[in-house]
Amino acid sequence: KADTAMYQAKDQGRSNYQFYTSALTLAANDRLALETSLRHALEREEFTLHYQPRVRTQDDVMIGMEALVRWHHPDKGLTAPDAFIPMAEETGLITPLGLWVLRTACRQAQTWMRLYGEPIHMAVNLSMRQLRQPDLVSQIDAILRDTGLPASSLELELTESVLMAGDGHTLTALAELKALGVRLAIDDFGTGYSSLAYLKRLPIDALKIDRSFVSDIPHDASDMAIASTIIAMARTLGLEVVAEGVETPEQLAFLKKEGCDSYQGFGFSPPVDAQAMTLWLDGLAREHRIARA
Ligand code: C2E
Ligand code: MG
Ligand code: MG
Ligand code: MG
Repeated sequence: KADTAMYQAKDQGRSNYQFYTSALTLAANDRLALETSLRHALEREEFTLHYQPRVRTQDDVMIGMEALVRWHHPDKGLTAPDAFIPMAEETGLITPLGLWVLRTACRQAQTWMRLYGEPIHMAVNLSMRQLRQPDLVSQIDAILRDTGLPASSLELELTESVLMAGDGHTLTALAELKALGVRLAIDDFGTGYSSLAYLKRLPIDALKIDRSFVSDIPHDASDMAIASTIIAMARTLGLEVVAEGVETPEQLAFLKKEGCDSYQGFGFSPPVDAQAMTLWLDGLAREHRIARA
């Protein structure tokens, strides 16, 4: 059954946007052009969100999704976040962009919840710079109240840099977010240099195993050992564990055997636009297969 899901999803195709030079390696005049067009992009409504299913490992049932931003660049077409998020962080534009992402994802999740009568678990990426904004917590509180999305349906994905920073303001912000009732996850887990002691102290709900430890399963023994160790540690600490970048039935079988709770990856589905996700949810609803997370 798992294999069927894998192969069906493969037909939906791979990544549907082009990658181009990372913003960090651009020449000065190209950087300026990027910054200027990024500044206008919000007003011109050039950003859009795609949604990637999060799937329960045990039975391939979709239990939620992650919102991933894209930019409909007037000249370059649909552009991946790696080409503009670093610049948005550098210039501070990540603050309004991040709020737009949060608001749009929460509104969409609430719309789907209303349509299908089941909670939709929505994960949103948050950059370190957003977490340092003194009014982030009240902004998120306002977004939840305005959109009507229950706080428990929102999961914020933070990278390990928050574990490394570990400063007072960050810890306070995480505690306040937790008090709102949102879930917190550590993204790209295993790639940073975080202190494991912090994992115990922070109010974290989930770990997402970085794609780099998944992509060479079952050929790389050390990646497999790392993935198994992260899964075992997460279970010991009572955290949910999610694998990123699962592409093959072999990878899925391994993660299932190790007890990984859920996964995302092209093997099930790449991120898709809201319209495609709506069609998919329609189908699941007809089959009574929308699951509670
Ligand atoms: P991430 O949060 O770790 O997201 C996972 C990335 O892996 C996504 O790339 C997704 O399309 C890709 N992916 C998913 N499954 C597979 C797979 O099976 N194989 C491969 N090769 N790739 C897979 P994407 O959408 O290009 O996003 C890249 C990064 O940009 C994200 O990594 C996240 O760090 C950042 N990002 C995306 N949206 C936002 C946002 O709204 N705010 C912030 N601050 N960062 C964002
Ligand atoms: Mg993420
Ligand atoms: Mg990740
Ligand atoms: Mg990443």
